[in-house]
Amino acid sequence: MTETASEMAIEQVRRLVADAWGLDVQIENLVGFADSNFRLTADDGGQYVLKLSPPGTSLEWLQCQNSATLHLTTSPLAALVPRVVPTRGGEVLLRLDEESEHPRWARLMTYLEGTPLAKVTKRPPLLLEEIGRTLAQLDFALADFDHPGAHRECFWDLTTTPNNAHFATYIDDPSRRALVEAHLQRFATRVTPRLSELECAVIHNDGNDYNLLVSAPDGGDPHLTGVIDFGDILHTAVVAEIAISCAYLIVDRDEWWDDAMHLIRGYDSVRPLTRLERDLLPDLIIGRICASLMFSSYGRHSNPDNAYLQISEAPMWRQLERMAMDDHSRLAPAVDTACRRAPNRSIDQILSIRERHVGRNLSVSYSEPLKIVRGESQYLIDDQGRRFLDLVNNVCHVGHCHPHVVAAGQRQMAELNTNTRYLHDNLADYALKLTVTFPDPLSVCFFVCTGTEANDLALRLARTHSGTREIIVLEHAYHGHSPSLIEIGTYKCEGPGGEGLAEHAHAAPLPDPYRGPHRGGDAGARYGNEVRAMVAELSAAGRPPGAFMAESLIGCGGQVIPPDGFMPAAFQAVRAAGGVCIADEVQVGFGRAGSHFWAFEALDVVPDIVTLGKPIGNGHPMAAVVTTPEIAASFVTGMEYFNTFGGNPVSCAIGLAVLEVIESEGLQEHARVLGEQFLDGFREMAPRHRLIGDVRGLGLFLGVELVRDHDTLEPADTEASAAIDAMRNRGFLLSTDGPLHNVLKIKPPMVLTAEDVAAVLENVDEVLDEIEARR
Ligand code: PMP
Repeated sequence: MTETASEMAIEQVRRLVADAWGLDVQIENLVGFADSNFRLTADDGGQYVLKLSPPGTSLEWLQCQNSATLHLTTSPLAALVPRVVPTRGGEVLLRLDEESEHPRWARLMTYLEGTPLAKVTKRPPLLLEEIGRTLAQLDFALADFDHPGAHRECFWDLTTTPNNAHFATYIDDPSRRALVEAHLQRFATRVTPRLSELECAVIHNDGNDYNLLVSAPDGGDPHLTGVIDFGDILHTAVVAEIAISCAYLIVDRDEWWDDAMHLIRGYDSVRPLTRLERDLLPDLIIGRICASLMFSSYGRHSNPDNAYLQISEAPMWRQLERMAMDDHSRLAPAVDTACRRAPNRSIDQILSIRERHVGRNLSVSYSEPLKIVRGESQYLIDDQGRRFLDLVNNVCHVGHCHPHVVAAGQRQMAELNTNTRYLHDNLADYALKLTVTFPDPLSVCFFVCTGTEANDLALRLARTHSGTREIIVLEHAYHGHSPSLIEIGTYKCEGPGGEGLAEHAHAAPLPDPYRGPHRGGDAGARYGNEVRAMVAELSAAGRPPGAFMAESLIGCGGQVIPPDGFMPAAFQAVRAAGGVCIADEVQVGFGRAGSHFWAFEALDVVPDIVTLGKPIGNGHPMAAVVTTPEIAASFVTGMEYFNTFGGNPVSCAIGLAVLEVIESEGLQEHARVLGEQFLDGFREMAPRHRLIGDVRGLGLFLGVELVRDHDTLEPADTEASAAIDAMRNRGFLLSTDGPLHNVLKIKPPMVLTAEDVAAVLENVDEVLDEIEARR
């Protein structure tokens, strides 16, 4: 690596460029690390850099650099990175020394204007933040780039710094050597064991102050004009990108601490650093300083003439020494603050702000509210660093902050977000990938932003198609918070503040085979008859239903699994009267039912309209309606359906990523297996607990109904709430549901593990013991 590039006479360069690229140029020598670089100015004013690799340079590595810069030309960073200029024959790498076994290669790149940051002393915070942001954007743009040449062992792979420890022997000063060795040791114990948890991808890997170009037009504030030299490009931990820049940019700076924080803040604002990345950042920064110092010490021994190798040695030592004096425990919180993640407001302060400035008709979970600051897979973490197993969030379906979903959203956000009046591949891709998950004839999508919007639109579709607003719903149903849905859902309209069902809405009995009027083997048929009777009555009154709307598995009604035969009977009766059937899969879709991707499939029906929400975007606000071509055609009345945000490129990128994760991680089957583990476990413990009245569920949608008396079914509501409080204190977040508030509901992120299920079962068992002992 330290081999100096062989010199090439200026005259030879001129001839090469004229022959291969057809350019007549003025030539100037540029400093380079491994390559020989020449700055060329063509007759037409065009400016280029000719890079000649030293003999024996890996072709694959050069191809990788070229491919990466090519990849970036279609990214928002195109103007900030050099572009490869092919020869007249279309080659992007020109072989020199035809005869040689170790040929050199020539590449021509566009020249970017600007001064290396190393030569600029004025570095205002805004410039540093811009550099941080740009590096993060670069990482986003490279996130979907890969090349075999980027997978190589390399001294400059920050993650393997301790492997280079033997280079420390070239450090002559014993105290300095000890300092480096101590840090390498610290790196090996603190950073190395956690490397496998870091996100890896191809990164630029050398944002030092010679590779960042800035310009200050008219003496104004400097801004970034280029990121050059992809010669260190590598597949490694992505956080190395900002760590490396920090390491070089803080050297010799009086305000080094603040400078680092501005860089980190900028980076984090575009690609939020994870908890682990933030924790490891100080060690990674020092790690790169150590690597650089080992390398320059080695370079001095083996190659005393190469000035470039020693370029920043003395100030680097000063930097390492002053950082060594600073307590590590001070650096990590500073990084947190830079990333604006420091836990700053107390729970009381937040409650008081909410009280004054946020509408108050929203309850907060738990009598002692939680301030949750982070989510990770199936866990939520509070401001005290306590980790809770999340058993109720069916929104963060594939796990809180799933990296694949986060990256998809961030990448698309950095590229484009606009409405669907422009054509975009993401919408087309998503419509295709989503509709193939449905049985025929469900094949037409409408993209909206919330479950409420989806259901509201479903009502409009049903009304336009059937010509009537008359609708049959189920008792205790909740379908959304708009007036059109409040007035048909008794969960709200017959609760506090409600105004009762609208005249056009008719609530059929909740098909609850445990507590409802119909129980036993034929409960499904008998509940079906209730709907049939309701349809007959409405039809006789000249008001046949235009729609039947129900959740496939019933959430607010108390985690009720409709008994066999109910849905087919209800659908048949409503359709016979000319109505359409709407399945609300806002809570239960996307594989949660385990046996099937859509819960209605487990009930042996195919709805006419299906509404999707919550899990669809893993927390990103998006939702959809899927219907038949026929119903979609009826909706073409001349009035446009436009939704500002629905189906935007970011939402679609996220939706696609969610589908990919469900598939690649086998989450539907996982839900089936864990669902059975839950049911078996609860059924096994039921005989030991007077409180357990019923255990029910499908996949990872489960309910445990607590009662005080198995004959009267007197609801054990206070016991249920005591159970969730006790579980919370043990690190498990559960909640209650059902009209009588006595059903423990379980609908966790689908990445829960079998160990988690076992832990939940064991703790519920103990908690119920405690509560039963108290009574
Ligand atoms: N349908 C069902 C079954 C729901 O559970 C919800 C939300 N709890 C909605 C619709 C409404 O969704 P959103 O809150 O996204 O408007």
